[in-house]
Amino acid sequence: MSPDVAGPHRDGERAVEEVEIFDTTLRDGCQLEGISVTVEDKLRIAEQLDVLGVHYIEGGWPGANPKDEEFFRRAASELRLNTSTLVAFGSTRRAKGRVDEDLTLRNLVEAGTSAVCIVGKSWDYHVTEALGTTLEEGEAMVGDSVAFLAGHGLRVLFDAEHFFDGYKRNPEFSLRVLEAAVEQGASHLVLCDTNGGSLPFEVEAIVSAVKAHFRDDAVVAIHTHDDTGCAVANAVVAVRAGARQVQGTMNGLGERTGNCNLTTVIPNLTLKMGYATLPEGRLERLTPVSHHIAELVNRPLNPQAPYVGSSAFAHKAGLHVSAIVKRKDAYEHVDPEQIGNGTRFVVSEMAGRATIKLKAEEIGLDMDGAAVNQVIDDLKRLEHEGYHFEAADASLELLMRRAGGWEQDFFRVESMRVITDELPNGGFTTEATVKVWVPGGDANPEAERYVRTAEGNGPVNAIDQALRAAVGVRYPELGRVHLTDYKVRILDGATATGAITRVLIDATDGQRSWTSIGVSSNIIEASWQALSDSIVYGLLHADGATSERATG
Ligand SMILES: [Zn+2]
Repeated sequence: MSPDVAGPHRDGERAVEEVEIFDTTLRDGCQLEGISVTVEDKLRIAEQLDVLGVHYIEGGWPGANPKDEEFFRRAASELRLNTSTLVAFGSTRRAKGRVDEDLTLRNLVEAGTSAVCIVGKSWDYHVTEALGTTLEEGEAMVGDSVAFLAGHGLRVLFDAEHFFDGYKRNPEFSLRVLEAAVEQGASHLVLCDTNGGSLPFEVEAIVSAVKAHFRDDAVVAIHTHDDTGCAVANAVVAVRAGARQVQGTMNGLGERTGNCNLTTVIPNLTLKMGYATLPEGRLERLTPVSHHIAELVNRPLNPQAPYVGSSAFAHKAGLHVSAIVKRKDAYEHVDPEQIGNGTRFVVSEMAGRATIKLKAEEIGLDMDGAAVNQVIDDLKRLEHEGYHFEAADASLELLMRRAGGWEQDFFRVESMRVITDELPNGGFTTEATVKVWVPGGDANPEAERYVRTAEGNGPVNAIDQALRAAVGVRYPELGRVHLTDYKVRILDGATATGAITRVLIDATDGQRSWTSIGVSSNIIEASWQALSDSIVYGLLHADGATSERATG
């Protein structure tokens, strides 16, 4: 295919061409510093990737560490993949070694997957300097290893390490290494920009040359890193040049600056270029799966992430709000529903009646004119005091519900107390006691009083634990809700400890995430406001609760 052709037509003249999606979140993604996932987490992530419907899930490097070894052992019996193929990753045999005595290759065979991906050197400099061997031996290491694995009935993807750098210096050797892999039965040639230094025009030219050389002898795959900020762009141009597999990670996780972000490149390939990527009907799972994986790796999603971020389709209040509603397609580059995201109207004190009405519609509230005016008044007053509702969707929703006369009836607080003691050894201990009244349910409409005390690593943690313990007796669904972030900002630094404190709390139930806010000159009070809003919102949106409890 000529690199000038943007992509196949979808109008029926030609069949829709497929680009395979190869996910390496469990290998490359887990290289990101600060990320530590358990085997259990890896199994849950693999399930999510299968739900999304990627073609391949690279599980890790069997034998390299006990965690990956356990992952493949448990995956064989516990993981039920309906759509995706699990891949084990490894490397070619050692220099001057024998394939049948090579531990890495044996581990790959024993991993029990139907496909394997092996990395080999395709830059002459690395063969002579890092391996300290001849180019002939470098080429033989690749050919022998592919032949050995293919001989065991495995599908073999060959990952050509530092391919673009190698090709720029010695294209003849780089192509010879790929030839060795293809001749011995590799199904895919993975062109890897290992140090992430390439730019799109280089990638496009080199992939075109590789494609022209091999034609349909093997699938050309592209594996890019984001060191120049071009990982996604490099993958896109590689596909234009004939690559038919894209490798990357969910949310762009990966060492240094990250890998090609699948949550960006998948919609680019599908919605903009017309390729078939995920199975029919799965693209709309992209946003929920992206958020779920962010949760599993304990790495908050960038709100500005293209397509899947919470700000990706957020419109700030202004003159054009009513225009957006009339013609959404004039303001949004794609329909956010296609990737499971949604249009969001951002509300602040600047908001006019139209914006508030839209927000109410978005939440599912039927507000009359008096309630809308009340919200506008409340917003002006509270934002003047230091609240910032743009950033706190959960507190905004509660404020809007209250303006319509709603009051939360999940629990009523009698009192809350928090004590911090300095210990003789210089450490600190914090303890909170919360007294609440909670309705007893249909059988027992009388509210019951619960008193709970909890220790925490700080006051907010202790209050959170105590409030949940008290309220959670009646609402076990609270067990799914947990706090993911706690931010404090001092609004008027000039008055030092007398300053106003703004607290923002992020929480999630594993399916949706929300932010609540509290403002006070007392940091405990500000935290308490944000915390109780967070829990009320969580209860309000626990499965099925919204329809029963929401009032217009
Ligand atoms: Zn990589």
